[in-house]
Amino acid sequence: MKRLTLLLTLLGSACLSSPQKSRVPHKPLDQIAGSRYSLYVLGITQDGGLPHVGCTKSCCTRARLQGIQRYPVSLGIFDRQTGKRFLIEASPKVEAQIALLHKLAQVSQRSRKPLDGLFLTHAHIGHYLGLAQFGREVASTKNLPTYVGPRMANFLRTNGPWNQLVELHQLKLHVLKPELPVEILPDLKILPILVPHRDEYSETFAFKIIGPHRSVLFVPDVDRWDRHKKLLSHLLQGVDIAYIDGTFYDGRELPGRNMKEIPHPPIVLSMDLLQNRAREKPGSIRFLHLNHTNPLFQNPGLLKALQIRGFALAHRGEKIQL
Ligand SMILES: [Zn+2]
Ligand SMILES: [Zn+2]
Ligand SMILES: [Zn+2]
Repeated sequence: MKRLTLLLTLLGSACLSSPQKSRVPHKPLDQIAGSRYSLYVLGITQDGGLPHVGCTKSCCTRARLQGIQRYPVSLGIFDRQTGKRFLIEASPKVEAQIALLHKLAQVSQRSRKPLDGLFLTHAHIGHYLGLAQFGREVASTKNLPTYVGPRMANFLRTNGPWNQLVELHQLKLHVLKPELPVEILPDLKILPILVPHRDEYSETFAFKIIGPHRSVLFVPDVDRWDRHKKLLSHLLQGVDIAYIDGTFYDGRELPGRNMKEIPHPPIVLSMDLLQNRAREKPGSIRFLHLNHTNPLFQNPGLLKALQIRGFALAHRGEKIQL
């Protein structure tokens, strides 16, 4: 019976479904009574989501048959006191993710002001294409505060269709400076930290979300941990929960492709680097931004081994009180 329960737990955590409850080992930290701010995970895949356009492998054919969708990475923040809602990343699934944020936060009245602010890490499609939904053809928001880096701001101001959103005041751009925290609500700050990535159109930020009780790190995309001296320790300083780049497990998911062209630290390397931390605080390192081919989605044995080492996969719908 015990074995069956374990098997069901593993299957449950690996299956392709919407918000999963806390059957998974190493769930995020316990709740804090009376805490004002909550952070929610609204998606855990790489930019293309799952199923992935053009993929005819079992990872996506099975999901298509079953009508299952995994969303690209995104986080939501909710303030219980004022009802304010912030979104980190505007993915191509932004409508579903805003709806999920409202559902998880039990916000009943949706309006033409679906959000009170938006933070974007960088200009790769999974992280900003959803901006199109705030334009004239859809939500037509009014001066939605949109926090981006200086290159990203320039990119949005000077390229269609994004410049129209700025010119028509649907978005109001706020330019983030690296290492300078922004206080979005009383005692709730977001600190942008530059990380190395393929920066074709913009710089790339990691965000540290610093609440009155807890701090959360969000690094969905990074080329490598050792590009800057002490980058990893700087990112993790003072952090209770870290959501980090888990795009590829160990490279087996891209046979025939040169991993150097698609640089991400493989999960196996990140686990080696962070093993002590995971052992001390199981569940505090949580992988997201998984590629559709990542074997952790389909191989319960691999996922179990990761969990035994004290690491976890992020889950859509999980909540951290800040
Ligand atoms: Zn990405
Ligand atoms: Zn696939
Ligand atoms: Zn990227």
